[in-house]
Amino acid sequence: MRMLTSGPPNAPMPTDPDLAELDQEQLTEAVVERGGRPFNARQIARWLYRRNVTDFAAMTDLPAALRDRLAAAWSCSTPAVLRTEQSEDGTAKLLLELPDSARIEAVYIPDTPRQTFCVSTQVGCAMQCGFCLTGLMGLQRHLTAGEIAGQVRVLAHRFELAGSAFNVVLMGMGEPLHNYDATMKALRMLTDRSGLAMPARRITLSTVGVLPALERLATEPVMPNLAVSLHATTEELRDRLVPVNRKYGLADLIAACRRFPADRRRRITFEYVLLAGVNDSIADAARLARMLSGMHAKVNVIPLNEAPGIPYRRPSDAQVDRFGRALASRGVTVMVRKSRGRDIRAACGQLMVEEESSRPVA
Ligand code: SF4
Repeated sequence: MRMLTSGPPNAPMPTDPDLAELDQEQLTEAVVERGGRPFNARQIARWLYRRNVTDFAAMTDLPAALRDRLAAAWSCSTPAVLRTEQSEDGTAKLLLELPDSARIEAVYIPDTPRQTFCVSTQVGCAMQCGFCLTGLMGLQRHLTAGEIAGQVRVLAHRFELAGSAFNVVLMGMGEPLHNYDATMKALRMLTDRSGLAMPARRITLSTVGVLPALERLATEPVMPNLAVSLHATTEELRDRLVPVNRKYGLADLIAACRRFPADRRRRITFEYVLLAGVNDSIADAARLARMLSGMHAKVNVIPLNEAPGIPYRRPSDAQVDRFGRALASRGVTVMVRKSRGRDIRAACGQLMVEEESSRPVA
């Protein structure tokens, strides 16, 4: 399995300084070096994140000389929208192209009850979870911080939400903790007061449990909500469904979640994709309830979104209901997640770039 031990490829570095890759501290430093003032950096961040303006000439409140200097030396990359697919339930899936022609998907999910953007952290994924189309792609490369934050910028602009409250979930393509530094930098960019100023509590990071990175996350100043993809209640089954479990086992993962500093986190969400006849028995529910006993947690039960190439089936609605009730009756806070965007393959585990020949439309 291609993960963790080898050095997966990063994005090719542009030769010009790329405004989209700078956090606010770096931006301030770079602007001051070019004769500007710290508040000019805040102005630039407002143009970029709140209005998605990447052309320095259009940043009309900057001194003209500074605009010219920046335009001469800097670029600003933004993911290009190749295609938008609209689900009948309002969900929209965007196929995005990056400067090196790599392609990723990002999803807009309306009314959840707030608007939610689901963004990617890698092109493909190394984790190879058995029920996930992205896992079938393998890992092509990590995304940069600017590419992760850039998806939010594009979505916020496209759906006219840059001035409103919305949620971001890092649950698209990729394992965020396998691309730790870029993911954390993107969170700093998204939460910075000069730009979108997102509260960290509106951001959820979903992980299969890359334990050393999870321990690091516990010490971060910007603390997103934590969602842990569990999917099994025994080591043996999780080894099969979530291969990273062979390296970082279930018992150690649960222990790490229990250790996660209680004063620094909100309730941990455990994601549990329900697979017919595999992990959907009442005995599974009972084990899951025991495993999470005493933890400030909730369980999201996600009936599988079937897809060609995925060797599992979705349980019946009656079985999903039985499983949910079995958890609830044992004191677990449980939510059976309604899939959004299934008709356009935008639902959980269904993101996979298939097409190679689209051209930008926006
Ligand atoms: S479920 Fe998440 S971690 Fe697992 S293969 Fe899919 S994208 Fe990667």
